[in-house]
Amino acid sequence: MVCSEQDIIKAAGIIAEAKHLVAFTGAGISVESGIPPFRGEGGIWSKHDPSILDIDFFCKHPLESWEAISKIFYEYFIDASPNAAHYLLARMEKEGMLKAVITQNIDNMHYEAGNRTVIEYHGNSKWLKCSLCGERFELSEVSLDTLPPRCSMDNEVLKPDFVFFGEGIPTEAASRSVDEISKADVLMIIGSTGEVMPAGVLPSIAKSNGAIIIEINPERSAFTDAMTDLYLQGPAGELSTLIDSYLF
Ligand code: NAD
Repeated sequence: MVCSEQDIIKAAGIIAEAKHLVAFTGAGISVESGIPPFRGEGGIWSKHDPSILDIDFFCKHPLESWEAISKIFYEYFIDASPNAAHYLLARMEKEGMLKAVITQNIDNMHYEAGNRTVIEYHGNSKWLKCSLCGERFELSEVSLDTLPPRCSMDNEVLKPDFVFFGEGIPTEAASRSVDEISKADVLMIIGSTGEVMPAGVLPSIAKSNGAIIIEINPERSAFTDAMTDLYLQGPAGELSTLIDSYLF
């Protein structure tokens, strides 16, 4: 951890004074929950080819895609539980400090921690959707013992209801994200490289409206030099425990 105690105290002060605080989270917030990010050392792309999450590849080779997806996502997610960073955001929402979480994550950790205003920009892996009729099924209703899983109505392949490469962002999530981030006077960016588009452009909306940007990440990101006002360098869970102790 490189961040100083002074910076933690400063962050807690800015958060406490915020009128419309919004959090923008990426894969890094869930690393201390045991879920690896895509990029960087130990990241998912160091072991798997990203094409398994390409929508054209999925349509042509659903079995191959599902074999990797079930290993990458569902095996990690089943054992994972929220960490101190997720719980801090949940507590801040409960206390009326935090207005919304916009997450690129698909792991359901923000809901599990207790946040209710969560905008899932890339969908949620806990839901599967029929590629033909569009019916949605909760993961608990579907067996992954035989791959690919199929729709109980028409036997068509089910697709995880998160955004694949080559797919658009769900319309409601896209518009709610812009609404919330436009109102922010303080934005916390936690654990995101800022390299995934179009999600990566959202923080610039807050910045151009004059919001204060607090960033938590052990590594510098595309946001750090471009817009971050207060950079807390370190792991999200560890730093959140410290912020919590100054905030409440
Ligand atoms: P990324 O995988 O591109 O990068 C992860 C970021 O997290 C890096 O900046 C890294 O330095 C940082 N990080 C690593 N450990 C951290 C820690 N302990 N605390 C805080 N930050 C830490 O992630 P991204 O830019 O958020 O890309 C998002 C894409 O990855 C999304 O499309 C998302 O759907 C997908 N994804 C989601 C999950 C998940 O749901 N948990 C996991 C992997 C990938």
